[in-house]
Amino acid sequence: MRLRDRFEPLLQQRKQAELFRRVPLVTSPIGTRIQLNGKTLVNFAANDYLGLSEDPDIRRQVCAADDATFGSGAAHLISGHHLHHHLLEDELSDWLGVERVLLFSTGYMANMAVQQALMQRGDTLIHDKLNHASLLDGARLSEAELKRYPHRNMAMLEKRLRAAEGQAMIVTDGVFSMDGDMAPLPDILELKEKHDAWLLVDEAHAFGVLGEHGRGSFEHFGLQADDDTLRVGTLGKAFGVFGAFVAGSQIAIDALINLARPWIYTTALPPANALAARIALKKVQQADAARAHLRALIQHFRAEAESLGLTLWESETPIQPLILGDAATAVAWSRALFEQGFHVPAIRPPTVPKGSARLRITFSACHTLEDVARLLEALAALYPCKS
Ligand SMILES: *Cc1c(COP(=O)(O)O)cnc(C)c1O
Repeated sequence: MRLRDRFEPLLQQRKQAELFRRVPLVTSPIGTRIQLNGKTLVNFAANDYLGLSEDPDIRRQVCAADDATFGSGAAHLISGHHLHHHLLEDELSDWLGVERVLLFSTGYMANMAVQQALMQRGDTLIHDKLNHASLLDGARLSEAELKRYPHRNMAMLEKRLRAAEGQAMIVTDGVFSMDGDMAPLPDILELKEKHDAWLLVDEAHAFGVLGEHGRGSFEHFGLQADDDTLRVGTLGKAFGVFGAFVAGSQIAIDALINLARPWIYTTALPPANALAARIALKKVQQADAARAHLRALIQHFRAEAESLGLTLWESETPIQPLILGDAATAVAWSRALFEQGFHVPAIRPPTVPKGSARLRITFSACHTLEDVARLLEALAALYPCKS
């Protein structure tokens, strides 16, 4: 068979169902204002919640540092682990109050690593059904068995825990990436204790944003992470740079260093990137005012959208989905918003379940109240075309 014979019909089918993916091209610096496919837009699509990707200090300080090379030349265990990596790991672990932090090149790889390294054949991974794709792929790389429970359904989680064989690990997003709602951590911790399970929480959308000082879901709920809990954070979202990390106990991190293939067999992050993340961490620590502004934008958006009759999801986070149902409607709304100067992408299956195609609106502390007001006006004008 020719490759073309397999994929031409498949891709054609996707085009007809409005499910074909195209890569939009940005020709300006990437921030809350972008030029995309030739048009200047207010960007409501990034995960850069504190606006740090645009921060001029980070760029200036990294450019001025002589020891911040771009290439690291090798994996961490060989010769790639630079002082900037070491200091970043220390500073992140101090910030979160954990024993150790281990850097990864991406959140995707961190999620591949934890389940593969810590869970063995005969063990059980128990996932929320709406977990990020990288957590699901991490379960596939692990030899443990995968079980899933309906989104945030604690009765079903408990049922899975009762039936689990070997060591059980509960795996969940802290903030769900396409829905913006939160895992019910207090209940999860109770079940974790009761059933002696371990816990992995993906804090990609929580670190920097949630909690009084941005320390994520645990701080939001006033909880402590114990030695059997690991948290994954990304540096490409609220930190505005690139990379990821796992935070946990000394013994858990030592196990990753010795066993995690997606950490061992890959080149270390650029030292310049690690330095950028160190500067970004200082800014995240000082971003209480930005977080307050972000919360105000979210509250304003939700109050106004509700009075327009738009159906919102139960989300207190900067991720505000507008669920529209079929992919064609979501694409039509996204295109109409593009024409009016907004980038709000349509999220379609298989990224989200069938019948729940949506606009995914994300807010940044660099948005103004006026940006949000203008977006609401554009949505109000679209609303009649929904029915
Ligand atoms: C973005 C994301 C990741 C992947 O992180 P990268 O650093 O972009 O690879 C993992 N988990 C969740 C929930 C995410 O949203």
